[in-house]
Parts: sequence; structure tokens; C-alpha cells
Amino acid sequence: MDRVVIVGASMGGLRAAEQLRAAGYEGELLAIGDEPHLPYNRPPLSKEALAAEVTHDAVAFRLRAGVADVTWRLGTPVAVADLDAGELTLADGTTVAYDGLVVATGLRPRRLPLPGGEDRRHVVRTLTTRPASARA
Ligand SMILES: Cc1cc2nc3c(=O)[nH]c(=O)nc-3n(C[C@H](O)[C@H](O)[C@H](O)COP(=O)(O)OP(=O)(O)OC[C@H]3O[C@@H](n4cnc5c(N)ncnc54)[C@H](O)[C@@H]3O)c2cc1C
Repeated sequence: MDRVVIVGASMGGLRAAEQLRAAGYEGELLAIGDEPHLPYNRPPLSKEALAAEVTHDAVAFRLRAGVADVTWRLGTPVAVADLDAGELTLADGTTVAYDGLVVATGLRPRRLPLPGGEDRRHVVRTLTTRPASARA
């Protein structure tokens, strides 16, 4: 295999890259994420980061030497995966061919359809979806 593409550039994607290298895979590793940030630790988002300004640097996972050569393509989601052709299409229309595919897209919180008060409800999931008062 020459190119493994990892969709989802968070903890799962990072750990998959580390394990591929640890298992001896020496080909190209490309991680595609829709968030603008390199992988970071989410638990602080619902803890100390709610009460203080936190930068990405403060919560970023350390990139070990083994994954120093991973290419991170951030800020654009994968829109279509053609598994037969071995090709992904990103939301900006670019296509990416792969020999191996890791899907590490995690999950998305489901919002309760409750009436009223939208401005006082927040999804605490990413660095950019925290309440504005807690954003760096
Ligand atoms: C606020 C908060 C507090 C938490 N606290 C704890 C805790 O105290 N203890 C604990 O054990 N766990 C905690 N967790 C859970 C932990 O953070 C998750 O288990 C972990 O983030 C899962 O990592 P993941 O990479 O599998 O998924 P995620 O972190 O969800 O990452 C998936 C990534 O894929 C991206 N993605 C999705 N679709 C696409 C696409 N089509 N194209 C490109 N990218 C895509 C997403 O935007 C995201 O960046 C917490 C989570 C949150 C949000």
C-alpha cells in the first residue's frame, strides 16, 4: 500500500496513524479533518476551558516523532467516499485516491428540539463551538 488516508483528524485519527507506523507501515499517511486544528484533547472543553480562555496549543496532543511525516489536510470535510474506486471527494471538490482508508470521524452530538432559549444552549464539542465567552 502506498497511501493510507485517515478521515477525521482528532484523537482516533492520530492514534490510527501512530499504530500504523508502529506496525511497520512506511507508506504515505494523509489525515483529512474538517476542523481547522491539529488533533487536540476534548475533555478540557467541558471542564476548565469553560471557565477560561484556552488556546489550541494548551490542549493539542503531542505529535510523536513516528507521525512527524503525516500530512494533515485540515478545514475541509470529506463529502463522498467511493469505496469501489478507492477515492474520496472533499467538500471543495478535490479528489483524493487511497490504497487504505481509516474512518475516524467520531460522532456528532444530537440537539434536542426544545422550544425557545437557543441562545442559552451550547454544544460543547470543539474548540470553535464553545460558548463565545470561553473562546480564546
Ligand atoms: C466536551 C467533551 C468532554 C469529554 N470528556 C471526556 C472525559 O472526561 N473522559 C473521556 O474519557 N472522554 C471524554 N470525552 C470523549 C473524548 O473526547 C472522545 O472519546 C474522543 O474525542 C473521541 O475521539 P475520536 O477521534 O474518535 O472522535 P472525535 O474527537 O469526535 O473526532 C472526530 C473528528 O472527525 C471529524 N470529522 C467528522 N466527519 C468528518 C468528515 N466527513 N471529514 C473530515 N473530518 C470529519 C470531526 O470534526 C472531528 O474532528 C469528552 C468529549 C467532549 C466533546
